[in-house]
Amino acid sequence: MKQIVIVLLAGLLMLSCEQPKEKTETKKKAEFAIVIHGGAGYMRRAGMSKEREIEYRKKLAEVLKVGYKILEDGGSSLDAVEKVINTMEDSPMFNSGKGAVFTGEGKNELDASIMNGENLEAGAVAGVTIVKNPVSLARLVMEKSPHVLLARDGAEKFAEMQNVELVEPEYFYTEDAWNALQRAKESELKKTDEDQSALHDFYDSKFGTVGCVALDKNGNLAAGTSTGGMTNKKWGRIGDSPIIGAGTYANNKTCGVSSTGHGEFFIRYAAAYDISALMEYKNMTVSEAADFVVNVKLKNAGGNGGVIAMDKYGNVAMPFNTTGMFRGYVKNGEEPVVKVFADE
Ligand code: ASP
Repeated sequence: MKQIVIVLLAGLLMLSCEQPKEKTETKKKAEFAIVIHGGAGYMRRAGMSKEREIEYRKKLAEVLKVGYKILEDGGSSLDAVEKVINTMEDSPMFNSGKGAVFTGEGKNELDASIMNGENLEAGAVAGVTIVKNPVSLARLVMEKSPHVLLARDGAEKFAEMQNVELVEPEYFYTEDAWNALQRAKESELKKTDEDQSALHDFYDSKFGTVGCVALDKNGNLAAGTSTGGMTNKKWGRIGDSPIIGAGTYANNKTCGVSSTGHGEFFIRYAAAYDISALMEYKNMTVSEAADFVVNVKLKNAGGNGGVIAMDKYGNVAMPFNTTGMFRGYVKNGEEPVVKVFADE
């Protein structure tokens, strides 16, 4: 009897000492924070020169600094998101603004969006060809028009009215993006009709969409995304990046999200909104929700890519189901974190 009591007591003691399941999320609010991505894809250590890797890491750190300064000075999360994305749009290293990928017709057609988590206002543009910084035009759509999404010539007419910086289409050209189109066309020619459905192989080689989520000192979240879409895209294809709820979403109640990956899947699974909804209705943390959408729902469906997400406390999630994603974040008073490959 005595032995049974001892065993029971020992069991109870063990139970009470059991560690709670580790939660990396905190409810202690970061004063401000910012998270960025420069696209997810099948990058491999062996396939990227050390110089190129260092160049990307340097650029991501530089971009984080731009956002940090704005937020530190009391700027809004919307300002931080816009300026951070502008910096990446201006760099030929990413598939957005200068450096955007080419359509099957050899053009650059750019998509972008931005959302304000404070009031759920949003703006987006699709298929623009002469707007230097599409995310800034998306912000103007949100703030200066009664609409959410403007496309093509209409969006460009609106851009002219708003005096945004316009450029010649050639401005966006880079040799890398042009060569990627030639390669995509060659492999398309080699494919049988059956293989054409595997056109989403496009995703193997090109990445570089950009996105940002920021939390400002007033506790407001904002998110934005900007891209050239997919190499060799056809028939006026528009991806997830300008679709609110797919490529971008922000709600102070839950989180901000920017997606990158095979856009058709992100649209069909309403990926960015789904993360917010899982937090709102299922009480998931931002990491649980983002991980479930990217590594369960999208992955099972065959949707390649990843997201960056941040909740109102500044907790960051950066899941992806490819081999890498250019990504980074920084919170007030902390050192910036920059990562490229999956194993870091
Ligand atoms: N999501 C983008 C699109 O499908 C592409 C990307 O993120 O790489 O247009």
